[in-house]
Amino acid sequence: MATGKSTVGRVVAERLSAQFVDLDALIERAVGTSVTTLFSERGEAGFRALEAEQLDELLRTEGNYPLVVSLGGGSLVDRTRRIEKLFRAVIVTLTAAPEEIVRRAFAQEGSGAVRPLLAGGDPEERVRFLLEQRAAGYAESHGQVATDGRSIEEIAGDVLSIIERDPVPVAAGLASYSVDIGSDLAERRLSRILGNPSGTLLVTDENVGVLHGDAVRRVQRKLGVPAAEVTLSPGEEHKNLAGLERIFETAFAQGLDRQATFIGLGGGVVTDMTGFAAATWVRGVRWVGLPTTLLSMVDASVGGKTAVDFKTAKNSVGAFWQPSGVICDVARLETEGDRAFVGALSEVVKTALIGDPELFGLLEERADAIVTRDRALVTEIVERSVRVKARVVSLDERESGLRATLNLGHTIGHALESSGGYTSLTHGEAVSLGLVAALRLGEKLGETPPALTARTLRLLERLGLPFRLERSALADATRLLGHDKKRAGGSIRFVFAQGIGDVRTRQVGLEDLVQWTPDLAG
Ligand code: NAD
Repeated sequence: MATGKSTVGRVVAERLSAQFVDLDALIERAVGTSVTTLFSERGEAGFRALEAEQLDELLRTEGNYPLVVSLGGGSLVDRTRRIEKLFRAVIVTLTAAPEEIVRRAFAQEGSGAVRPLLAGGDPEERVRFLLEQRAAGYAESHGQVATDGRSIEEIAGDVLSIIERDPVPVAAGLASYSVDIGSDLAERRLSRILGNPSGTLLVTDENVGVLHGDAVRRVQRKLGVPAAEVTLSPGEEHKNLAGLERIFETAFAQGLDRQATFIGLGGGVVTDMTGFAAATWVRGVRWVGLPTTLLSMVDASVGGKTAVDFKTAKNSVGAFWQPSGVICDVARLETEGDRAFVGALSEVVKTALIGDPELFGLLEERADAIVTRDRALVTEIVERSVRVKARVVSLDERESGLRATLNLGHTIGHALESSGGYTSLTHGEAVSLGLVAALRLGEKLGETPPALTARTLRLLERLGLPFRLERSALADATRLLGHDKKRAGGSIRFVFAQGIGDVRTRQVGLEDLVQWTPDLAG
């Protein structure tokens, strides 16, 4: 409210040669009444409904693009609508101090939109109340730009740079963050995310630190505050409390306090451990994820799940703790081993099946170039995968419903992976086989069209992923299905693909699953 949305929006539109629309003005034109009158006649709920209708209509019309819209301060208060828009457009929140908002609101002659909400009581108190009420919603945008004491040009410049970056937003209330995907963007972006910490701790492993650590160390040094580093032993077998203790030892030795920031540079093992260490060190510090494997970019980097393994239980000691930002610098994937890179493509296929038919088509059309890591294509598949996962976790941060669909292929996949002792199959390979099993089971239960199974199998084969299910391996794996985390009593919530971009969950009896699984071989 009164943060200069219309003025800045106009300048931004001009720079982008885009059409500019002020939503309040559009509504006033459409209804022929002022926003103030609409508010008093229809109440806030009535006004919001009309506003939603007008905005949807505006965005539906192809001919309107490119388009810059200045929204009302309350236009995206409804969370479902906000998340939907977040994945259709770049949303930037302009901020100002409450006293400045009041000053500007009253200076704006005829700005009817602001007055109804400021009516009744002390305006500054009212503004503070509204800002507090809406803070989590405003944080769920691609970026926030402060406007106090700054010129329109400066503010527009910041907005344009967010548009240019076009990061993938992960909406998690006040803990929201964005994922930047590209190459050679890491240093600049990392400095921005770090801001002014009291100290930094780089966590990496023996393989990654030597290959990719220097850029991070440079950023750490430039900050001029204590900079520490822990180099963990690589691999899942070191994702444990002992590794965590090494991180804490270093943080302790450096005297890192709550204003410190941890930086996780590595595969999913390193980023999961860094995140969990950050969640618990002095009851929680900020952390930044710099994933360096395809799997950690497309999967582990989004969603805020952090953990270590405990004895044989994978990821059993952990927390939900969102990073302050994630940078997927795809140039780092060039040093990743072939087996790991290709294996992770199964997660990309899974993601395409869950929510991106265009990604599925791209994988089919360009399989060969993707396997040989064409930089532009890899960037696109990472970006598309992150976008699908980010949308799902934004709608369901704590895995109560929708997020379960991300487990497509994982139920039998996990069982195959662990029955092989985590050595015969990589996680990605197990997911590939798990996908095949899930599609075949879907066919058996009338959920999955056989043509979809056939098409996915062809794609997995072209990408160099395993797709043949062996009866003996399946029989071994069935013994472990009862340990699945998704199990509830005698049944498992299983994810089925009904089409590309069309998945659903359904409870399947554990006994049935155990009986049917070996027959999925072929
Ligand atoms: P990883 O972290 O073990 O890395 C695999 C190997 O590759 C390691 O030896 C590592 O040193 C090396 N490596 C990493 N990047 C490299 C690079 N650029 N060049 C050369 N070598 C490199 O394995 P991963 O597959 O990245 O991640 C698996 C982990 O991720 C599992 O522990 C899993 O639980 C976790 N995970 C977490 C989530 C989540 O939501 N938090 C999601 C999926 C997976």
